[in-house]
Amino acid sequence: MRAASHALRPAGKRLGLVPTMGALHEGHLSLVRAARAQCDAVAVSIFVNPTQFGPNEDLARYPRPFERDREMLEQEGVDLVFAPTVEEVYGTVADKSVRATPATWVTVEDLSGKLDGRSRPGHFRGVTTVVSKLFHIVEPDVAFFGQKDAAQLAVIRRMVCDLNFPVEIVACPIVREADGLAMSSRNAYLDATQRKEALVLHRSLMRVEELARAGERDATKLAAAGRAEFVKEKSVRLDYFEIVDAETLDPVADVSAGALVAVAAYVGTTRLIDNVLLAAT
Ligand code: AMP
Repeated sequence: MRAASHALRPAGKRLGLVPTMGALHEGHLSLVRAARAQCDAVAVSIFVNPTQFGPNEDLARYPRPFERDREMLEQEGVDLVFAPTVEEVYGTVADKSVRATPATWVTVEDLSGKLDGRSRPGHFRGVTTVVSKLFHIVEPDVAFFGQKDAAQLAVIRRMVCDLNFPVEIVACPIVREADGLAMSSRNAYLDATQRKEALVLHRSLMRVEELARAGERDATKLAAAGRAEFVKEKSVRLDYFEIVDAETLDPVADVSAGALVAVAAYVGTTRLIDNVLLAAT
């Protein structure tokens, strides 16, 4: 992989990497298109990373439509698809359920315990470990991540800064379905009823955005208004609804300096996340 990546970027050429877990949709493709626009060559990785899944999460049933993904990427004119096995990424795995346990982890302390990191212990440690490995294997000049996973973006930016990775991080906006639902590979788990119920995530964020636009600055009041939308949607279980600083992920009291409004909720057994950035006023 490293030899192929080197061949793609002779001196002065920029290689972009789009890390994914596959089951590609328009959200992923928007990252690929941004990479194509900003780089000379584009590599996409497809790897369902076991170390970022908790023991009771959806690792086994996570969709893996590899042929379809590969065709989509070919259509987008991607230069390189890197789809390693768990063994290739982590060496020998402890057991056949492919629960890899590397001896060396990359952990962004503090940030990794916030938002999704609080609900999913060990999740961000798995993400930063695999992204470090991908950066070392592919050696991209630029890597593209979706704003959809806002906490992940903050954690990766911090890792790149703290460990001096020579990789520029580019964030791309959230791509949504026509009715507002943020695109996600996990939306495939939803049945028709749940698909409608899932709209409460976007609705709650729109409510907060609307109140902020009308002049409300108090984060406690804004968050309460967002959470209230979930009271009306009994079948959806709220995990968190928080208004935080987009870089530190710490709660803010006032949104005048800009803020990240982030939500996670379970629709049935499917955990969905979404967020919106409030601009500074
Ligand atoms: P995943 O395959 O879920 O790990 O996602 C791979 C990358 O695609 C991550 O950087 C995500 O943030 C990004 N991504 C996923 N869904 C969307 C979306 N709806 N809009 C923009 N980026 C997305």
